[in-house]
Amino acid sequence: MTRFKRLFHWGPLTALSIITFLFVNALLADISWYSPCDIGGLLHLAVFCSWVYAILKEFLKAAFDGPGFVPLGWKPENEEDEKCLQYCSTCMGFKAPRSHHCKKCNRCVMKMDHHCPWINNCVGHKNHKSFTLFLVFVVIGCSHAAVILICTCLRYILWDEGFLIIKIDEYDLISFGVEYFIVFCLAIGLSSGVAVAVSLLLYYQIRTILTNQTGIEDWIVTKADRERPDGSVFIYPYDLGTWNNIKQVINWSGDYAGDGINWPIKEGCKQYDLTIEQLEQKALKRDRMVLHKIIGNYSGTWFPCKHGLRTCYDMPWSDAPRMGVEEKDAVYVTRWRRHWLFGEKVTTKRSFNASNGAIPEREKGWFPRQCAVEVYDDEDEFLKKLK
Ligand SMILES: [Zn+2]
Ligand SMILES: [Zn+2]
Repeated sequence: MTRFKRLFHWGPLTALSIITFLFVNALLADISWYSPCDIGGLLHLAVFCSWVYAILKEFLKAAFDGPGFVPLGWKPENEEDEKCLQYCSTCMGFKAPRSHHCKKCNRCVMKMDHHCPWINNCVGHKNHKSFTLFLVFVVIGCSHAAVILICTCLRYILWDEGFLIIKIDEYDLISFGVEYFIVFCLAIGLSSGVAVAVSLLLYYQIRTILTNQTGIEDWIVTKADRERPDGSVFIYPYDLGTWNNIKQVINWSGDYAGDGINWPIKEGCKQYDLTIEQLEQKALKRDRMVLHKIIGNYSGTWFPCKHGLRTCYDMPWSDAPRMGVEEKDAVYVTRWRRHWLFGEKVTTKRSFNASNGAIPEREKGWFPRQCAVEVYDDEDEFLKKLK
């Protein structure tokens, strides 16, 4: 039942409506060409229907199977390894290598690529293959539908001295008229638009598979390209060579290779190279933060008249969120304006259960500068008191 709940969301419902709309129209357009005993026509129809079957099959598989979630409260077998991993305070466990916490799924996702609203689920370890196949069949199916629809419209219309004329042949299976023409034109626009947009997505998925590097990992690798005190260079540990990378996802014997926790790595690399790099990047970010104590309340409103004209006048004109703060909150500030601060809230209690002291995900946003003062005394003492 919970599997079906995934489909009752604007994303999957829109995707299924588009599939149905294009299928019905292309089907009508297609059968208008043939007499019932036309073998060639029936074969063509069967090919078209098989794309639609494949699209629906892979779509439901990707949505229902999901990416695979890291077990709640997961920890590595070897306690020593805990210091190489980030802690997730929501899942109350360590983040396995290549996993990330998805706020929409509210779980740590195995080899997370992205959260896809169309399947209302994350794309990751277990559904990477079905999601990619879904994209492949959407591109093929929509292109095929567009060709059928365009040919049908061209067959029924003709230009006569600047006028568009629709030919109606009463012996055809459907009585093509202006309504059909308008709806088919809409379907042509939609199917070609979907084919182009999904081709782009498919290109990125193929790149992800060939390099065995997800969108999120791309970002980590980009940030890893920095000068280090010991002059070392970061080597991405999961690139096993093109063919082996493909076999990680397109696996003929089953749907996916491995358990989603332990990953095969490149020679010369270590199991936790990427997670250690992530921890270092977090620490670097933390170094640039300044801890502030909140001394005044702010509701999170966009026009905080209560905080004076100058605060309203100096308001950051970006769509970055505003964050309500209350006295005794603590915020790590990362950006400044004359009358505004941008930071991440330090949540209390659960956050500091992490044995490796990792700072968990927090609420972020702008708030008026007059609501906070910098904490100059011992930060650790101050944070402990917050508990
Ligand atoms: Zn989590
Ligand atoms: Zn998700």
